[in-house]
Amino acid sequence: MLIESPQHRPPHDMSSPMLQIVTGCSHGKCHFCDIFTGVPFTALPMDEITADIDKIAQTATADLRRIYLTGGNPFALPVSKLEAVFDEVEQRIPTVKSYGGFCRIMDIEHKSDEDLKRLVARGVDEITLGAESGFDEALAFMEKGHVAADIVEQGQRLHDAGMRFTFFYLAGMAGAGRGQENALASAEVFSQAGPSRILVVTITPTKDWPLAHDIEAGRWQPPSEGEIAREIQTFVRHLSCTCMVNCSHDTDIIRFEGMVPLNQQKLVELMDHRIPQMNEQAARRMREALHGATF
Ligand code: SF4
Repeated sequence: MLIESPQHRPPHDMSSPMLQIVTGCSHGKCHFCDIFTGVPFTALPMDEITADIDKIAQTATADLRRIYLTGGNPFALPVSKLEAVFDEVEQRIPTVKSYGGFCRIMDIEHKSDEDLKRLVARGVDEITLGAESGFDEALAFMEKGHVAADIVEQGQRLHDAGMRFTFFYLAGMAGAGRGQENALASAEVFSQAGPSRILVVTITPTKDWPLAHDIEAGRWQPPSEGEIAREIQTFVRHLSCTCMVNCSHDTDIIRFEGMVPLNQQKLVELMDHRIPQMNEQAARRMREALHGATF
């Protein structure tokens, strides 16, 4: 099979081959997501997975060390199933010692401390979690399936197990007029959880998202481009953990990357400089052109 479309990887894992081990997402309810609409969550049969590992092995370089597991949330699978996949990978590509992949906050909650340690022992040393926001109202409205306290608790458990992690922050998720609340709550919650990296993505509604119904019914209004930029600035300004912040997704209008706290002041100043130069209409046209956005 070798990858059923669509599959994704974060920018820092672009050189890690993707290995799909599940279809769909076990949650599938987030209002801002249509990635796996209509695709049931299933574990792929091992013979399909091994066939794909064979294909990766054919083109693997001698220094290939890391594989990125895909499907919506591969770490929803039991640890024994994941370990069986790692066995198959390492039989065919012995240089592989590290695994990443997308993960839900609740996938971590559903694993015991012992499970997490077993994963770390097998090389699961950095994963990517869709935390999205630390603002409970926004998380509940979007049916994200976790609350802010879960983010902090599961982040702490990952630290205890020795696993590094990246969070997504979905700027604009709280809707028009709520950006500052979202930024402040999220900065506090993310800082308590302590990700090593935060990827900022800007909400870009399309007609295929469940959120389109919320917009049509007047339950959610998109924030302006200026409000989103100021939200991101407030979020960065109030982070109090040590992490890399990357705001360079193609939905982001003002793009930057830097370490917090090392570059924090410079990032805030950069946004001070850029926000007055933003053109609301041009930014919206970019979203429509790139993503078929509907506001
Ligand atoms: S958990 Fe992730 S993949 Fe699943 S519905 Fe939500 S945003 Fe989409």
